[in-house]
Amino acid sequence: MTEERVLEPEEAAGEEQYEVTLRPRRLDEFIGQAPLKLNLELILGGARRRREALEHVLLCGPPGLGKTTLANILAGEMEADLRVTSGPAIEHQGALASILMNLEEGGILFIDEIHRLSRPVEESLYPAMEDFKFDWVAGKGAGAQSMRLSLPHFTVIGATTRQGMLSSPLRDRFGAVYRLEFYTPEEIRAIVLRSARILEIEIDGAGADLLAGRSRGTPRIANRLLRRARDWAQVKGAGRIDAAAVTATMDLLAVDASGLDELDRRILRTIVEKYGGGPVGVDTLAVSVSEERETLEDVFEPYLIQLGFLARTSRGRVATALAYTHLGLTPPAAWQREGGRADPDRRGIEPELFS
Ligand code: ADP
Repeated sequence: MTEERVLEPEEAAGEEQYEVTLRPRRLDEFIGQAPLKLNLELILGGARRRREALEHVLLCGPPGLGKTTLANILAGEMEADLRVTSGPAIEHQGALASILMNLEEGGILFIDEIHRLSRPVEESLYPAMEDFKFDWVAGKGAGAQSMRLSLPHFTVIGATTRQGMLSSPLRDRFGAVYRLEFYTPEEIRAIVLRSARILEIEIDGAGADLLAGRSRGTPRIANRLLRRARDWAQVKGAGRIDAAAVTATMDLLAVDASGLDELDRRILRTIVEKYGGGPVGVDTLAVSVSEERETLEDVFEPYLIQLGFLARTSRGRVATALAYTHLGLTPPAAWQREGGRADPDRRGIEPELFS
């Protein structure tokens, strides 16, 4: 993507300062994800009681839903030292060894995009996670010596947007695997109100409701849209975020009432106009809309599926009757049934089970 996309769920350049200010610090400040929070409270309580390092935790889900925030919260709640890295940043085994050797006893290593670890690094992580040992080969050739180094007891918190791309040996080494879900509009509304309080901007209920409906169930996007609405309110409005300020901001950004922008609509229109509504293979679709397949699968599709506009089937992607209606088009008569819900089955296509 060349230009900045306001609905991009990944962190944008220059956004870090806001993320840090707005990030909840404690579990009880973390809004939503109730079942996950209950589970985390339990493993935190157990580890504290036993005075042990927390077990390894894997957090899965689309970007912007709070994985990094939770890693920070877990470290805070355990009063543990936190080291943050990512799969592609650990370039070789030596780099991993140096990170692990420098961890404190009970320390937490957060590995973002853990599905992108290289194979050799991933394989040396197995004994480290399991036995707190690191197998190290010193020297090269005939004189090479293999050593087993002892590591402090530490915790890996892994984050991934693609659970399906994680090898099963790696997944099996996590004692706890959790999935973050999109937030409900009520939860996003609460997040927006909390952020507005921290940013000291006045917002009314109608403004918060409208923002919540367009944030794609994603806190990072909600916070970004809030900042854009704040700009509008301060520059063109009366200094407070109300329905008019949000509507004007969203019109400027071309974000529609379902929280879709031009790119989302282009994906749906492509399936409808070029491929007769689908099914179309994901690789073909990615080329048609000039996006990476990975971006399409991680960033665009989850929300379109959540809205019921898109279905992933074993034969490819399918636009639903709801998508036609959203684009102002009439779905082919044969697909229509009560409510116009997603209906890939009736077109002889098996919905695919995906994680
Ligand atoms: P991820 O690591 O999944 O991409 P982050 O943890 O970086 O997402 O979250 C993005 C931003 O969204 C954070 O800076 C934080 O301000 C906000 N956020 C995420 N989850 C919550 C939540 N449950 N409550 C309040 N704010 C949240």
